[in-house]
Amino acid sequence: MSGAAEVWVWLSRNREGALSVNVNELLYEARSLCRRFGADLTALGDREPTTAEMELLGRWGVGAVRIVGRALPLHPLCEDGRSPLAELAGAEPPRVFLMADDAFGKVVAPLWAADTGARFVPSVSGITADASDEPKIVAARSTHGEQFESLVTLDGSRPIVVTLIPGAVGEGAEPPGALARNPRVQVRGAAPVRSVDAPIIHPPDPESLDLADAERIVAFGRGGFTPQAVSLVARLAELLGAAVAGSRPAADEGWIPFSRQIGLTGAIVRPKLYVTVGISGAPYHMAGVKDPETLIAINSDPEAPIFGSADLGIVGDLYRVLPELIARLERGEPLAGAAAAETGAAAKAP
Ligand SMILES: Cc1cc2nc3c(=O)[nH]c(=O)nc-3n(C[C@H](O)[C@H](O)[C@H](O)COP(=O)(O)OP(=O)(O)OC[C@H]3O[C@@H](n4cnc5c(N)ncnc54)[C@H](O)[C@@H]3O)c2cc1C
Repeated sequence: MSGAAEVWVWLSRNREGALSVNVNELLYEARSLCRRFGADLTALGDREPTTAEMELLGRWGVGAVRIVGRALPLHPLCEDGRSPLAELAGAEPPRVFLMADDAFGKVVAPLWAADTGARFVPSVSGITADASDEPKIVAARSTHGEQFESLVTLDGSRPIVVTLIPGAVGEGAEPPGALARNPRVQVRGAAPVRSVDAPIIHPPDPESLDLADAERIVAFGRGGFTPQAVSLVARLAELLGAAVAGSRPAADEGWIPFSRQIGLTGAIVRPKLYVTVGISGAPYHMAGVKDPETLIAINSDPEAPIFGSADLGIVGDLYRVLPELIARLERGEPLAGAAAAETGAAAKAP
């Protein structure tokens, strides 16, 4: 394998400025690659980590933290189509660059590959080193609703960038107990680094909350393709502090951006609460909904497959059900009570 002996991990952050939940998963995969190749583990980010974050990175064995010297845009395509990270590759690109399969990684990783000549493998569920004499990288990708796994084997002739789907490693991604390294911080770029002591706090924004980080999601489908239904869905999401998402037809027909589509060919989510409105529950949609603590389905068809996955099903017309739920939530009733009142059922919803 050629190139500098480094594995890079991008430090994704949520809108509150905290490290994203799956940074540990990225570091877990990166650490095992580093052990196999004797490579150095480097973290990249757009701001200097806090003391606690540096301690966490040190436990993972991160040797260096490189800071991009300016805030990165949420949609880097706005920056004339070039990856803002391309300059960092320089003459010594890493062997492997791991990014989260979130809204940022989905845009930046392919751009980085295009700018640096790296190979890009999107949405992997794991990445390991082949144990042969000439080490190769093997990236696993789930297909057909996770019924099959395809393995992509890559030699080391070019750098590789992958995006790792959130939850792929899961709870096993715990850092080792002891501090392995004391990472050093390198700042790149002319502009000052944003302060980590005074992060910008954004309230949950249903329009832009990253689906991978959203604990609550309200998703709508073909049953809700009218301006009235969409505004009811938006109001329900606002009251719940939830992100708005949709099925593939909702994206195909322009009711949501493609980044808000959930399913096999969209985002994979693990919310605590998932509310569906006018979604039938097709397998390709449900492939993107991983173990929600509570799934509440609103659908006018009692035979809709979504009810097979729901903790609480409300059979009814959304134009009648949603205003009633919204009114109850506006009166301060918890969702469980409001939804159960609609059905007469007992619910375990929050
Ligand atoms: C290769 C492949 C990949 C795919 N990837 C995805 C993916 O990533 N994500 C995805 O979502 N789909 C995906 N699909 C499409 C998927 O198979 C389904 O076609 C799609 O999920 C259906 O979307 P829907 O539930 O919005 O629409 P429908 O299946 O048409 O369901 C609409 C529902 O709304 C209900 N309804 C209608 N009016 C009302 C009302 N007034 N009140 C309440 N309920 C009402 C109906 O009873 C119905 O159940 C993929 C398909 C293929 C072939």
